[in-house]
Amino acid sequence: MSNVENLHSIQKSLPENVTLVAVSKTKPAEAILELFESGQVDFGENKVQELVEKYEVLPKEIKWHLIGHLQKNKVKYIAPFVHLIHSVDSESLLKEINKQALKQERIILCLLQVKIAEEDSKFGMEKEEAQRILATYETKFPFVKIVGLMGMATFTDNEDQIRKEFRSLKILFEKLKPSFGLTTLSIGMSGDYKIALEEGSNMVRVGSAIFGERIYDHP
Ligand SMILES: *Cc1c(COP(=O)(O)O)cnc(C)c1O
Repeated sequence: MSNVENLHSIQKSLPENVTLVAVSKTKPAEAILELFESGQVDFGENKVQELVEKYEVLPKEIKWHLIGHLQKNKVKYIAPFVHLIHSVDSESLLKEINKQALKQERIILCLLQVKIAEEDSKFGMEKEEAQRILATYETKFPFVKIVGLMGMATFTDNEDQIRKEFRSLKILFEKLKPSFGLTTLSIGMSGDYKIALEEGSNMVRVGSAIFGERIYDHP
């Protein structure tokens, strides 16, 4: 199947309230343009330089999601245009995003990345830290808006494990949602988005199931 066919078959399978972020890392601008012209607006990248290069050559209507680890010294490059940063993993990063957002006179939407995987190779903050930041950030950082949570499950074939990890984040999301006006729960990738949907995801980040396997990979 072509990329467009893959995209549309996934799109059709998603409930109406779920946003599909097409993860286009390592894929050329032409491949993104083809999907954009078929109606896909949200695209995700995990590297700042690649994101900026693609932003510059592609239609400005695209909503760009930064989904990979973000270094503080690179926030300034994406601050003018990024739609949503999924990978806020510390308060000091949030502080820098606020600073750059102020310079751009815009509010930058963010998700807190919470560590849910049992394996400790993944970025993300502890649940308690996410809760603490949500309770205190608004007056400190008026140019950021935290709209939800993001998580990545352990890379495993064990569906029960993945489900358990997603469920733990959904529980935290539901707990924090009323007080802090959260809207977005970003869980689920190509291999596990169906489980994530069953566990209440409303934003999935899907790359290889649309574009095919990546030849090289660096998460
Ligand atoms: C690469 C990546 C994805 C998409 O992975 P696929 O398995 O190709 O769907 C989702 N989220 C993050 C954070 C990624 O780095």
